[in-house]
Amino acid sequence: IEQSAYYNDKLAMLGKIAAAIAHEIRNPLTSIRGFIQLLRPDLAQLGKEEYAKIILQEINRANEIINEFLNSSKPTAPVKENIQVAALVKEVSLLYESEALLNGCMIESGGINPDIFISIDVKQIKQVLLNIVKNAMEALKTRSRDQQGFIRITAYLNDGKVSIMISDNGEGVEPGVLSRLFDPFFSTKAEGTGLGLSVSYRIIKNHGGTIQVESKLHEGTTFIVHLPVG
Ligand code: ADP
Ligand code: MG
Repeated sequence: IEQSAYYNDKLAMLGKIAAAIAHEIRNPLTSIRGFIQLLRPDLAQLGKEEYAKIILQEINRANEIINEFLNSSKPTAPVKENIQVAALVKEVSLLYESEALLNGCMIESGGINPDIFISIDVKQIKQVLLNIVKNAMEALKTRSRDQQGFIRITAYLNDGKVSIMISDNGEGVEPGVLSRLFDPFFSTKAEGTGLGLSVSYRIIKNHGGTIQVESKLHEGTTFIVHLPVG
């Protein structure tokens, strides 16, 4: 799937604005969070601890959106290091293990050939994998619970490239919108920013890689990230 220059310009402009205002929004949010935490015991005594929880949740959400905007503002050249793919994947799946448990689904990432190494900007590619796994987790949540939900991450060498494949058996994607998944702000979620995949797309492109998606409605989705080895 190719993305036009138009979208890259739009992302770059958005990034500049985001970077400029994020700082100004983060500071008040941090102080709001601090004071709510101080008030928590008092609210608990009044039987209103639930309110504190909601306020903190919403502050976290606002912070998450700011972080995603900021991520989209950094078209930085990758700073590459050599890393074992199995270790990278393990780290990503560990970060989601507790959430998977909580949601009653499984995240599997074993069996990757330990000899596969890749030269990448680890922070950036980790961000990509986290974005994709997060989406998979969200796709599992809304799925009807007739079957064990799973996310599988595998990696293999393929024609001089390392391919990292992330599959889920979640709700899947409507065929009509498959080509729009990587567009900035495209989201089918009530609370989605629609930035995760567009940012991921750009990071992969900066690495000289490609990303591929296949999906079947109500059956599941597979993303494959292809990255040059060195
Ligand atoms: P967001 O998650 O904020 O909606 P993303 O850019 O991460 O934005 O994803 C864009 C859209 O792609 C999602 O809203 C969803 O419709 C679709 N999508 C991405 N990954 C999956 C998946 N694993 N299963 C089903 N739909 C997905
Ligand atoms: Mg997302």
